[in-house]
Amino acid sequence: MAIAEKGKQHLIDPGICIRCNSCEEACTISAITHDERNYVVKPDVCSECRDCVPVCPTGAIDNWFAIVPGEAWSIEEQFSWDELPAPTAAAPPPQPAIPQEVERLTAEATAGQGGPAPAPWSAEKPAVNLYTEKNPITATVTGNLRLTAEGASADIRHIILDFGGAHFPLLEGQNIGIIPPGSDGKGRPHFVRLYSVASPREGERPGYNNCALTVKRVVEDHESRPIRGVCSNYLCDLEKGDKVQVIGPFGANFLMPNHPGSSLMMICTGTGSAPMRAMTERRRRRRELNEGGSLMLFFGARAQDELPYHGPLMKLPQEFIDINFAFSRVPGEPKRYVQDRIRERHEDVWRHLNDEECYIYLCGLKGMEKGVDEAFRDVCRLHGGDWDKLLPQLRGKGRYHIETY
Ligand code: NAP
Repeated sequence: MAIAEKGKQHLIDPGICIRCNSCEEACTISAITHDERNYVVKPDVCSECRDCVPVCPTGAIDNWFAIVPGEAWSIEEQFSWDELPAPTAAAPPPQPAIPQEVERLTAEATAGQGGPAPAPWSAEKPAVNLYTEKNPITATVTGNLRLTAEGASADIRHIILDFGGAHFPLLEGQNIGIIPPGSDGKGRPHFVRLYSVASPREGERPGYNNCALTVKRVVEDHESRPIRGVCSNYLCDLEKGDKVQVIGPFGANFLMPNHPGSSLMMICTGTGSAPMRAMTERRRRRRELNEGGSLMLFFGARAQDELPYHGPLMKLPQEFIDINFAFSRVPGEPKRYVQDRIRERHEDVWRHLNDEECYIYLCGLKGMEKGVDEAFRDVCRLHGGDWDKLLPQLRGKGRYHIETY
């Protein structure tokens, strides 16, 4: 039964929606759609299954208005909104979210393959949504360093943002939102863009209230058609002292375990290395505590000089981190992807998959998700295992986390 027939309407708050598309992807009945401005819910299709609620990083999705049956706002009306309408006599105030129900639905959504997996049991409790689009924090740029070689095709930058005396706690694996200045062709302010935090929780240097981002200047889309990424070009052109509007933090799942003896298997492509850099740096700084556990990294890039953080990575001792590069565009060499390296290292990968203390993180291009899934399936098959059985177990235990775009 459609929700509108029950005298209720599901709405997305355009004031805080960051257009990440998670809700539309999570909706199995195509009740959510969007135009270039707003994400909206079709009142005659939504059945109130709430699959979209736990995946929303801002809570914009969680609005349930009482309406007179048959008088739901159309999607055309929703497309025109800049904020949710005020409740009227006919439409009483929105019902507050029921935390227990959200928790239950989150647990349901994360038990299988869909939606985010729960955070590792020992992960630090994250702060989320401290600053919103209506109330952003102003950061100051204190560094903007090109990570890729001058001749490389990609301009990837390490950008450091300082938050001064403001309270802005971040954990490795979380995201922040950047609001690019200016407006689009219709004179409307640009939408916020999300970036993974590339520095550990104490900042680029312990005691500094700052964070690093790994940003690639976007000059073409995934099909190599020329485009100019609004936010990435804005960030890559920043200079020391410039001010940036930031919102967040976001993300309560893709977090690293905190307990001694835990291991990480990290698989990334390109700038998807940002959270891996944060986690690796966290572990590097705690090395002398001898907490045990191991780090294994699979890192895909076009070539060595296109790979962000290649230099610093090469300085890390082998006994600290087991690094496996996969280069795809080296002249005279066959194309290699991270999934090829995973297959090559099947013995160790199989051991890690079965190690209850090993947590697995996948970040980067959307396309790698399927390739890595198939590689894990092959590794399992080779060792007499069953990936279809193992994967839900890993996810249920917060041991398998994916963030791909
Ligand atoms: P890229 O340079 O285009 O590609 C990196 C490597 O991945 C290349 O070797 C590429 O090979 C390879 N690759 C392409 N398709 C693949 C597939 N199906 N399976 C495995 N490997 C594949 O990467 P990028 O432009 O940096 O993109 C990184 C992605 O990470 C973006 O989608 C970005 O949104 C996302 N991300 C960024 C952040 C951040 O904070 N900046 C955080 C999280 C995620 P080819 O030679 O075939 O192209």
